[in-house]
Amino acid sequence: QAERLGNSQTRPYGDGLEEAYRRRACLAADLKTAISDGQFRLVFQPLVRIRDRSVYGYEALIRWQHPVKGLLNPIDVIPIAENTGLIVDLGAWALREACREAATWRPDLSVSVNTSPVQLSRSDFPGLVEAVLADTGLDPERLEIEVTETSTIETPDKVTVAINKLRTMGLKVVLDDFGTGYSSLNTLQNFTFDKIKIDRVFTQSIETDARSRAIIRSAVLLGHSFKIPVLAEGVENERQLRFLKEAGCFAVQGYLFSKPINALQIPEAAFPKRPDPEHFKHLRAHP
Ligand code: C2E
Ligand code: MG
Ligand code: MG
Ligand code: MG
Repeated sequence: QAERLGNSQTRPYGDGLEEAYRRRACLAADLKTAISDGQFRLVFQPLVRIRDRSVYGYEALIRWQHPVKGLLNPIDVIPIAENTGLIVDLGAWALREACREAATWRPDLSVSVNTSPVQLSRSDFPGLVEAVLADTGLDPERLEIEVTETSTIETPDKVTVAINKLRTMGLKVVLDDFGTGYSSLNTLQNFTFDKIKIDRVFTQSIETDARSRAIIRSAVLLGHSFKIPVLAEGVENERQLRFLKEAGCFAVQGYLFSKPINALQIPEAAFPKRPDPEHFKHLRAHP
């Protein structure tokens, strides 16, 4: 073990922490101009029905093309955006951009947009969604808003109002990352969702962990007893897919089918242009 420590690239704890703070402060300053500078873009990951491996929609995921640091993933960006309050502008941008794209897709395809607690707790959020739908012409039925449990815990009353308004507008509200929060069951008890998405930590331990399998089976049964469909994220191989199918999941997303792709690579985009059959060939390659 001494050898491992000796070879380690990481600095002593205190130093690393200071470094992390510096990095964050730096990024926070850059973030202010990044949105208006057009440094953000969305990538899209297909949501695939297990039944016939058809794509029914895409989840929009944010990427920051930083001029110096290169491509940054949301794990480095979203927390800073949340702490600085910039998530409100960033989230609004992502929502608008996702709806604008989806409006060019085949009309049966939906788009899923992630939200952070800060956004959902603002009373103007449903109004923003309404304005974006009006501006982009996207049918509300084609928009799914992904909500994490953190939102439902931090400001439950405000989030209840938001979820109910959105559902009344005809949108679908999805409980994202199910099972990873502090009180997944409480959340299901107190809020109404249209879908449940099981977190990828469970999917990725299907083959090695009997408890994960038990949790997934129960989550699907729970969903079904509420009459809501359950999907799973992070599916990377056929064995995981087979288990999820047998457990009763209706859909999945994951590298098995596709990593998140650029809008231009979406075969169902620019409707009514016919999709290029070469795209997603692998999705249909199986019986
Ligand atoms: P999420 O909403 O749970 O999205 C799924 C994440 O899992 C994505 O990571 C996706 O690329 C990754 N993923 C999907 N399939 C696989 C797989 O088979 N294997 C592995 N290893 N990973 C897979 P990404 O794009 O890095 O996003 C991370 C998180 O950042 C998202 O998790 C979401 O919570 C947040 N996020 C992304 N975009 C936005 C946004 O516009 N607003 C907010 N508030 N959060 C966002
Ligand atoms: Mg999500
Ligand atoms: Mg998720
Ligand atoms: Mg997740």
